[in-house]
Amino acid sequence: MDYEKYWHSSAHILAAAVKKLWPKIKLGIGPAIENGFYYEFYGKKFTKDDLKKIEKEMRKMISEKLKFERRDLKRTEAKKMFKNEPFKLELLEEMGAPSIYTTGDFVDLCKGPHVNNTGNIKEVKLLKISASYWKGDNKRESLQRIYGISFNSKKEIRQFTHMMEEAIKRDHRKIGKEMELFGFNELVSPGFSLMYPNGTVIMEELRKFINQINKEMGFKNVWTPHVAKTELWKISGHYEAYREKMYMFKSGKNQMAIKPMNCPFHVQIYKRKRRSYKELPIRYSEIATVYRNEQSGELHGLMRVITINMDDRHSFVKSDQIESEIKMLMNSVKKVIDIFGMKAVFNLSTRPKKRIGSDEVWDKAEKTLKDVLEKNKINYILKEGEGAFYGPKVDVDAMDAIGRKWQLSTIQLDLSMPERFDLDYLTNKGKERPAMIHCAILGSVERLMGILIEHYAGKFPVWLSPIQAMVLPITDRNVKYAEKVNEELKKSGIRSEINRSQNTLQYKIRDAQTKMKIPYLIIVGDKELEKKKLAVRDRSNKTKYNVSTKQLIKEIREKIDKRSE
Ligand SMILES: [Zn+2]
Ligand SMILES: [Zn+2]
Repeated sequence: MDYEKYWHSSAHILAAAVKKLWPKIKLGIGPAIENGFYYEFYGKKFTKDDLKKIEKEMRKMISEKLKFERRDLKRTEAKKMFKNEPFKLELLEEMGAPSIYTTGDFVDLCKGPHVNNTGNIKEVKLLKISASYWKGDNKRESLQRIYGISFNSKKEIRQFTHMMEEAIKRDHRKIGKEMELFGFNELVSPGFSLMYPNGTVIMEELRKFINQINKEMGFKNVWTPHVAKTELWKISGHYEAYREKMYMFKSGKNQMAIKPMNCPFHVQIYKRKRRSYKELPIRYSEIATVYRNEQSGELHGLMRVITINMDDRHSFVKSDQIESEIKMLMNSVKKVIDIFGMKAVFNLSTRPKKRIGSDEVWDKAEKTLKDVLEKNKINYILKEGEGAFYGPKVDVDAMDAIGRKWQLSTIQLDLSMPERFDLDYLTNKGKERPAMIHCAILGSVERLMGILIEHYAGKFPVWLSPIQAMVLPITDRNVKYAEKVNEELKKSGIRSEINRSQNTLQYKIRDAQTKMKIPYLIIVGDKELEKKKLAVRDRSNKTKYNVSTKQLIKEIREKIDKRSE
């Protein structure tokens, strides 16, 4: 289904309903967005009760099956028609040949397209009201935005509202605070996350996991500095195409820049000596902190930060190795997304407006990626104009537990940077130029952590849980035995802690389970002490009695080693 058309048409119905109820209100714009649509209005503050009235009016229009009728008209005619709509007049100035759409007695200035008639929209629900400035400019008028969603059935609306409610409950900022994973600090600067001990455990586990995958693929780890002369970024093309996102400063006579990516450094490592065709592919990986300057309005918890730990990879390959290399990387991407229990969705992004390299090079690179996807029968979504400035890419989204898609991994084919840095290798016939493939699987580790918090609702699988087991002695008499159990777990590499506080057992269980979301609670009372056994409560919420420490360690270790649950 073409949701863009469907939701944008719904926005027209919203505007028509509002105009019917309050004819003096002025109209802004009404686009489809990622999840639904909105329309902007000027001249009234809406209440929740208003939304109900508007919905009722919209349903009436839907039942009337009014046609969306297009008409092209002269600018002077359009000006007359919208003489009482100052915002539309402003839009008219920016529009090419004006066109209008009529539904019933409502007319809107619009290029389309729309659904055939209002009856195509089956169910609507208005979600919220928020304030916004005209054209996002805080010196302009303040408007009211009404957001809504529409679907073909009540069931889909219910599923959607359930998803939205779940998303609020799972907000990673809220859970991150409860579990003491990460935070931000005004003195440090917004957008620069601080990883607390619990969050750092998760980062370290992700790092271990990805290092293992890197080794399996034949990547070698390298380390490169955070800063380089702008000269380097000029040759790489970053200075030309990525400058707004880079932090730059002067040091002595040199103009320096903090790295937003690692590619030019890895190129220098490749270039340090003569290369023979026999050495290729040459693969470097680095989990590095890069810095990308974002507008503070774009920041959102861990989902968008300025300091990014990324698992960056660069493969230098011969042209006949491109396919197999990309295939290998795609397999690893899928494997990683599978481990997290999410679904991989592939996208092919082609040349953007702002780019380096000739059209010929782009043609070749785009065709190669397309061929690999099609040969391997991978379904993909084509995203025109969304490639990196140096090459086309396959982006992979992960679909989380509540059906949301998150952009995670990226595989980029680059024929341009090898040229700019004059990379080569020797064959029997002479010098050849390698291709370069950039790949991030986890992407931004911070962002991934945010995604995983929401995907698991904080209930991380055992291998990722900051605290894997909590030992809870019931009385002081049991503390010594509880400590012994805790030590044994720790010796087996399990992140176990003991809660010796004087709080009631019920309180301690609740704290460990609902706040810290610890997968294993180990309860030690007199009975357990006497039999030298344990009572174990896992996430199923059932308590198993008479468990030996050895048995328990075996069970937990197995889950950790398999990264299963
Ligand atoms: Zn329209
Ligand atoms: Zn790169």
